[in-house]
Amino acid sequence: MNKTENVLKIKEYDKFKCIADKCKFTCCKGWDINIDTKTYNKWREKDNLNYLLDNVRFIKSHGENTYLIKKETKGGCPFLSNEGLCNIVIDHGDEYLSLTCRSFPRIENDFEGVKELTLSCSCPEVVSIISHMKEKIYIDFNDSLSYIEDLGCLKIRESLVNIIQKEDISIENKFNLSYDMLFNMLDNDDLTYENLIEFLDNYKSENYIKEELNKYIDYEKTDTRKYFKEINSLFIDMIENYRNVPVFEDILKDIYKFAEDINIEKFVKDWEGFGDLFKEYDNLIENCIVSKVLSNCVSDDLEEMIISFEMIILEYLLIRHAVFLRYYINIKKEISIQDVKDYIVIFSRIIGNNSEAVIEFLLDIYESEILEFDYICSLILI
Ligand code: SF4
Repeated sequence: MNKTENVLKIKEYDKFKCIADKCKFTCCKGWDINIDTKTYNKWREKDNLNYLLDNVRFIKSHGENTYLIKKETKGGCPFLSNEGLCNIVIDHGDEYLSLTCRSFPRIENDFEGVKELTLSCSCPEVVSIISHMKEKIYIDFNDSLSYIEDLGCLKIRESLVNIIQKEDISIENKFNLSYDMLFNMLDNDDLTYENLIEFLDNYKSENYIKEELNKYIDYEKTDTRKYFKEINSLFIDMIENYRNVPVFEDILKDIYKFAEDINIEKFVKDWEGFGDLFKEYDNLIENCIVSKVLSNCVSDDLEEMIISFEMIILEYLLIRHAVFLRYYINIKKEISIQDVKDYIVIFSRIIGNNSEAVIEFLLDIYESEILEFDYICSLILI
């Protein structure tokens, strides 16, 4: 089979166009940019490119060398020109860019001769495209291709998407149902493919789902103050290293300060009003969640799949918290769609594109990279 013939794209994939120097959250600032070995070698082998290596540092990760661009003191890429353009492209051309720079925000996943192309919500242009979609997001479907039926991990991903796109269930309970489903599979790790399909079929039954949802009522507002405090601490820890990065500063600094001084007792009253307003963005948030599931929940290792989904839940919790803090300090008690979009981008970068560091953090604080269902459910349902 010719691999390049079967290319399936996420909806609106072709609409993406980088706005470069006009971008509010340029991807050339504020995070670690990886240099793949092939690009590193190209820079090393050509005399006129050797100077680029002065701006590369390396770290050992899982016993392998990882090359990263040395960021400037303000977190920017040293190759970014004052006009917001890339000096490597200007001086040498696209072909000398690292794979990350060449492809971002495009994501490619290959499955048995099928290439799926999706987009990352770490790019504001992608989130803007998603925010204009009225319908539910999906990847092109070609019924002559059987790759989804053949791979257990894609059947699990399909079930996650089906749950998240269900009508009449809150986003919070969609997360609970999905995380619970993954946990149940973890308890039963010798599932055959046939057993897996049978198990996933349960989630097509309205009655089964109803019974599952009834179980979560016990977690609702069990101890709102305690779990709000937990989320607030998580928020402070996660953005600690980002709040002074110039590209994020305007949007993180004031809510960070507010989070540090927050009076937990006072917030409860405002939380109720906030919940109803935040629901207005369910469509945008649901499509971003599905987009992340389609890109990231593709591992055939169940633990890796759960961690990918857990990262999406953490992103959601921090986006919700950041938007709440912004709402709380707003005298008019309003939420703007721009704030919601901005925090989707920021937490996609802080959590989604930084999952190794987040996993280390979880191991440090919770002594496990996979958080217990009960704990996640209580955080979600404050
Ligand atoms: S974040 Fe997106 S729009 Fe902005 S510079 Fe990067 S690719 Fe272009």
